[in-house]
Amino acid sequence: MKATIFDIQRGSFVDGPGIRTTVFFKGCNLRCKWCHNPEGIDREIKMLFYESKCIGCKKCKSVCKSKACILCGECAIYCPSMAREICGREITPRELFDIIARDKHYYKNGGGATFSGGECLLNPDFLRETLSLCKENGIGTAIDTAGNVPYESIERVMPYTDIFLYDIKCITKELHKAGTGVSNGLILENLKRLKKDFCGRIIIRIPIIGGFNDTEEELRKIKAFLDSLEIEEVELLPYHTLGVHKYEALGIDQTEFSVPSEGQMSAFREIFK
Ligand code: SF4
Ligand code: SF4
Repeated sequence: MKATIFDIQRGSFVDGPGIRTTVFFKGCNLRCKWCHNPEGIDREIKMLFYESKCIGCKKCKSVCKSKACILCGECAIYCPSMAREICGREITPRELFDIIARDKHYYKNGGGATFSGGECLLNPDFLRETLSLCKENGIGTAIDTAGNVPYESIERVMPYTDIFLYDIKCITKELHKAGTGVSNGLILENLKRLKKDFCGRIIIRIPIIGGFNDTEEELRKIKAFLDSLEIEEVELLPYHTLGVHKYEALGIDQTEFSVPSEGQMSAFREIFK
């Protein structure tokens, strides 16, 4: 069994408690217009090309032995300015676990492995096997999900998961559809069921996107929904522009959003106090 991942970040502090290794799976069934990991949306392995880094040396042409690109990665190895990059690689649960386990001694004090994406829950059997290896070896586990998957996929991983980092973008259905391409019906329903069935921690993550959901009205709706489920742990994540250059590398247009101000963020944090 294999899955395609596009990044592994060791020593992360932002994807759950403690020091963590975060694994990013390729493939997502949402199309958030502000996505900061657009290279993780498609499942397919791809070549990224950063035109602004290219110095025109043509080394990539001279090393390529193929008429049609077979994604061998040779040109990326020889490119002197790192203008080319292969995005994605296949991996087995055991191979992934072995990488995660290298940092086991850093996971004390509540850290561990976080499985993110893309949408990691599009690979429920792969995840279940990797998670069970982590748990057998005393490594804490977290799933970072947008929740737009069959509930059975969540049930598959639940026994081996300590923490769900669950994204909620907005409550208003039309707004959700406009921003992500899908309705939020399944996402909200899955969260209700998860809250009933899961004994571990659920941390809600809300991206604050200027020009999308950065209104008191929308955030109060999310707060009311979470209160109705008695969910108390919430993180607000301000939109940032760090992923913008990846749109260029993928050759796709990006919708512009604004970064919320510190003042706005503190006012929104007050709502969730
Ligand atoms: S990845 Fe391989 S096949 Fe594709 S362009 Fe580069 S060298 Fe050629
Ligand atoms: S090897 Fe890199 S820098 Fe040189 S032409 Fe190719 S992409 Fe551009």
